[in-house]
Amino acid sequence: MTTTGEQRPLRASERLAPEVRERMPADFREAVDFHGHLCPGLTIGYRAALIAMERLGVKRGTDEDLVGIVETDACGIDAFQYLTGCTLGKGNLIYRDYGKQAFTLVRRADGRGVRVALRSDAFAPDPERTALKSRVMSGQASDEERQRFWQGHVERALELAEASVAEFGTVAEVTVELPPKAGAFDSVTCTVCGEAVMEPRARVRDGGFCCIPCSVRYGRGWEINV
Ligand SMILES: [Zn+2]
Ligand SMILES: [Zn+2]
Repeated sequence: MTTTGEQRPLRASERLAPEVRERMPADFREAVDFHGHLCPGLTIGYRAALIAMERLGVKRGTDEDLVGIVETDACGIDAFQYLTGCTLGKGNLIYRDYGKQAFTLVRRADGRGVRVALRSDAFAPDPERTALKSRVMSGQASDEERQRFWQGHVERALELAEASVAEFGTVAEVTVELPPKAGAFDSVTCTVCGEAVMEPRARVRDGGFCCIPCSVRYGRGWEINV
């Protein structure tokens, strides 16, 4: 209930139309608040997290030691982090830069997990919508066109949220070899910028320790560790 005089700015989910909000479970609205807006991308991570958690038999906020593996850096990882509790800061979120809408949730105890990948035809090309999008993004759209575009965006998100598991994507049980838990390391001081850097990330420059941004990069085009 709102009290008079309350100045708190509206959360992202509170700015949605009532008929949209009504269709969203509480945890979905919370994920929208965390992310800052409702979009199809966020919804992908939301559904993937729910499906993986259900298959694995784990609930949000349990003590189960879980690790998340995300293969995209798009909107969806915010919902995935929010729902599973696997976060970058806790060291139990692994990001793989594969550009794929795939999310894996793993039990650390035995490496057993569930990988959920969005169907490859989930976003079938829609020439009318593509044209509308380019008009909106270039600022040429009329108010009516802009409204139609954003309504379609929300509708697409709700459809993904309400799709059956089979419509959403593929679900596979996987066994993953996980890296050891994050350890604590000593730091050395960068001789160039004077900031501390953890030992395993330190480089050498002119015979002294330095951090990665201060290091001299050398490569001939094929190295990966740059
Ligand atoms: Zn988004
Ligand atoms: Zn430095």
